Amino acid sequence: MSPIKVRPDVMETKPYVPGLTIEEIKEKYSLESVIKLASNENPLGASPVAIEAINRHAPDIFRYPHNGNPRLNKAIAERIGVTQKNIICGNGSDEIIDLLVRVKAEPGRDEVLSYESCFSMYNLMSRLSGINFRQIPREAEHKHPLKAMTAAVTDKTAIVFVTTPDNPTGLAVTAKEVREMAESIPEQTILAIDEAYIDFATPAAEYDMRPLLKEFPNVVLLRTFSKAFGLAGMRVGFGIMSTELTGFINRARPPFTVNLLAEEAAIAVLGDDKFYNDTVDVVLRGRKMFTDEIRGMGCEVLPSQANFIMFKPTRDAGEVFEELLKRGIIVRPLKSFGLSEYIRVTMGTDVENKIFIDTLKELL
Ligand SMILES: *Cc1c(COP(=O)(O)O)cnc(C)c1O
Repeated sequence: MSPIKVRPDVMETKPYVPGLTIEEIKEKYSLESVIKLASNENPLGASPVAIEAINRHAPDIFRYPHNGNPRLNKAIAERIGVTQKNIICGNGSDEIIDLLVRVKAEPGRDEVLSYESCFSMYNLMSRLSGINFRQIPREAEHKHPLKAMTAAVTDKTAIVFVTTPDNPTGLAVTAKEVREMAESIPEQTILAIDEAYIDFATPAAEYDMRPLLKEFPNVVLLRTFSKAFGLAGMRVGFGIMSTELTGFINRARPPFTVNLLAEEAAIAVLGDDKFYNDTVDVVLRGRKMFTDEIRGMGCEVLPSQANFIMFKPTRDAGEVFEELLKRGIIVRPLKSFGLSEYIRVTMGTDVENKIFIDTLKELL
């Protein structure tokens, strides 16, 4: 039998490798408890209000959800300060990235632009749509190369992706810097700002991109319920964009991709201010502690505006990752991002953070 052939873009694509799961590590090293600081998940777990909503709506799951989840769109729009028609929800913001690429970029002609060691979904979704993906080198100290990206835009550039705060560096660019970029980019190129970690950027006003939406119809903001809202497993993300663009995306999208329980959980968590504020508090407290302590160990630590930090240990990063694993702490080595000297660690609870710092001190 001859092996099955699929599209060349797929043949050349390696599957996404997520961080190891807690169960996998427990088994491998015979550990009783494991601390996972690898996937930028919420340190406080899930909101009790969201869990209650899921339980309450469990009997309804034989029904299809309301297509286009208008109740959730309305709740998001009120929080963001836009109209319901400016919102598109998806099965994680990964789906919004996919939809943007498929709606905007023409296969075989257009390209998508981002920078080196960026979030891997921009590449994956582009390639699978037959779109060339181009990456601009970062500036010194891993900074966003906004000027070089702006200069690199051509009439074939369908979308430019900028993650801020960035994953995996944690670095953020200000609204003023993004405004300058928006002013120089042609109207026909979408400027997609991935704000998965925006809730942790301080001071918030300096990083607030919402005013750009009114001025620049090609600006799109991407957000998610996976991080500050603690719903990574429910898969809900959303895009904020012009009504013209949401109209086009609504023509192209498959129905019902946000499931019924995900919609209810997301609506519920939007009303849980305590959970949100407690999450931001524990993350900001942990971020300061991690930054000070790890710098104190003589490591390079990037200034983070996210719920994780990226640092360069004074020993081989791969070794440090393995040694932490043996001691029941999962972090993210950044080899797959092309940053093999670095580690990314998510802020956990205060107790987990202390255990991580004490263990790292021992290892270094
Ligand atoms: C975590 C993350 C997301 C969120 O993805 P979901 O599909 O909504 O879970 C988006 N962009 C970046 C850069 C992220 O790190």
